Amino acid sequence: MHVFLALRRKIVAEVFLLALFVTALGTVTVVFSAPPGSCINIVIDPGHGGEDPGALDREGHEEEDINLAVALYLADYLKAQGFNVILTRRYDTDYVLPKPFRKGKTKKRCDLDRRIALAVRHYASAYISLHVNTGRPSSRGAESYYHPKSLDSKILAESIQQELWSLPGMPKKKARPANYYLLSRTPMASVIVEMGYLTNPVERRNLLNPAYQKQLAQALSRGIVLYCQRKALRNVPTFCPAF
Ligand SMILES: [Zn+2]
Repeated sequence: MHVFLALRRKIVAEVFLLALFVTALGTVTVVFSAPPGSCINIVIDPGHGGEDPGALDREGHEEEDINLAVALYLADYLKAQGFNVILTRRYDTDYVLPKPFRKGKTKKRCDLDRRIALAVRHYASAYISLHVNTGRPSSRGAESYYHPKSLDSKILAESIQQELWSLPGMPKKKARPANYYLLSRTPMASVIVEMGYLTNPVERRNLLNPAYQKQLAQALSRGIVLYCQRKALRNVPTFCPAF
């Protein structure tokens, strides 16, 4: 039994690694493909929802809707590449329990704890929480945050941030450490991505535009793939057991 498990793990690890293709032009292209059933589970968490709309603009657009729109595109892109994707929500909902069941927790912590529990239950390899920022009108640019004590989270945040730089007009901000509640409670690699500022006129227009939302999702998916490649190169892939 142990031999079988070790063999299975070895096969999965090998198939998980990169496939190299030499194009007709002689250049080498690195292509990642998560094999079907490889149990690389990615949790996509569209922030807020339900009672909590998140940031709002003057016209009543809500952060929760932007987060969800990008999350759904991202889920499609990742699934097309063979990942198992778990969305923490697909609709305008939250995880807040009635007061007697929260046992002293705030609504926010109750909501976050249940999202994290979902990721733990699915043996997720990575947790990506999507948000939209607010600030001064001049503030702009996507920002990725990781917990300072998690090296995997740092690699994930840097991989995502690097791919976000490819978006038109995106300033080259670096991934930053932050001791946010969600990041400190997720046992797997986790990142909070603030995808732009709703308070910046240009970014607000972009964030509400489905074409830009798709570009964001594509960049995020490339960042997640890059993270998986870097993990494989470090030879410490994390796979969930069969379930
Ligand atoms: Zn938010």
